[in-house]
Amino acid sequence: MKAVQYTKIGAMPEVVQIPRPAPGPGQILLRVDAAGVCHSDFVVMGMPADQLTFPLPLTLGHEGVGTVAELGAGVDSVAVGDTVAVYGPWGCGVCAKCAVGKENYCLRAQELGIFPPGLGAPGAIAEYMIVDDARHLVPVDDLDPVQAVPLTDAGLTPYHAIKQSLPKLVPGSTAVVIGAGGLGHVAIQLLRHLSPARVVALDVSAEKLALAKEVGAHEALESNDKAAAAVRELTAGRMAEAVFDFVGAPPTVAIASACVAVEGDVTIVGIGGGTLPVGFGATPYEVSVTAPYWGSRAELIEVFDLARGGAISVHTETYALDEAPRAYERLHDGKVSGRAVILPQQ
Ligand code: NAD
Ligand code: ZN
Ligand code: ZN
Repeated sequence: MKAVQYTKIGAMPEVVQIPRPAPGPGQILLRVDAAGVCHSDFVVMGMPADQLTFPLPLTLGHEGVGTVAELGAGVDSVAVGDTVAVYGPWGCGVCAKCAVGKENYCLRAQELGIFPPGLGAPGAIAEYMIVDDARHLVPVDDLDPVQAVPLTDAGLTPYHAIKQSLPKLVPGSTAVVIGAGGLGHVAIQLLRHLSPARVVALDVSAEKLALAKEVGAHEALESNDKAAAAVRELTAGRMAEAVFDFVGAPPTVAIASACVAVEGDVTIVGIGGGTLPVGFGATPYEVSVTAPYWGSRAELIEVFDLARGGAISVHTETYALDEAPRAYERLHDGKVSGRAVILPQQ
């Protein structure tokens, strides 16, 4: 079968031929209908050899939707032909975090060498993929696979982040979204649907600022050293009760810190190497700073229900498997509008 792999340190993704895998006991073989391309893949592909905790080559793709093609021994909770989405942050399934569906925070994944598909285990940008356990599968039902697949990360991750701050996003409040890309443009829609907050988007690209407005941002401003002053003016000095940074680079965490209100939340979702000093006087009084990772399985089900209700419409660009390297190039160059989705069966 064809797969898109990261083959060696520093290489760009390439289309390769590999044997079609067979499901072992408890596993499921999916025929992949759609797979999303996330900016985090560049974080993995930017790691030096001594930081990579798994061997190469790696089949990429941690957002996947597919049709159950074959069941390993003992699997009876899904059937051949079911269309399912893959909940990506796999854990041990047993520890205190996994027990409540938060496999993204599994206490034993590292020790047991459990990796998410596309981030250590063979991923979704291939004709077929192996899913280790049926509990990682969420029914897609009537959702379009192209719409559903980005929701497994570009929807779930901002949903989890935003949910923590909803009590602060009361009428009259402001939420700032930094980076209106794959995650950010979904975050804007979630904020508009789940809260009465005024949503201010910041980005460095005019196209992304236009997309931010299109999906519901009240204001879309250039992300630069004047952004905090603009937020101050828009909020009459009150600043933003919640700032979601989907870039997470040194300049954006600095903007996030400068935009946040007293008792506000700064949530650093982007993996751009930025850190924020926290201490008396470093941020306004009683600001909370967090850096969450992905979301729980229950939250993915909630995101799917929101999409079914029409709250979220993901902007997508679709590509055949052979074209996946071009999707990565465009994402790298900041040219993808919304999410790039690969269709391995086309
Ligand atoms: P993307 O490339 O689709 O979007 C990034 C957006 O940020 C683009 O619109 C780009 O124009 C904008 N941008 C770049 N520099 C900026 C700046 N200085 N100020 C404002 N905007 C700027 O990426 P994505 O797939 O949406 O991922 C976003 C980030 O989130 C990445 O760092 C990714 O690794 C990370 N991520 C984290 C998690 C997690 O669980 N914490 C999950 C998924 C993705
Ligand atoms: Zn991701
Ligand atoms: Zn666990």
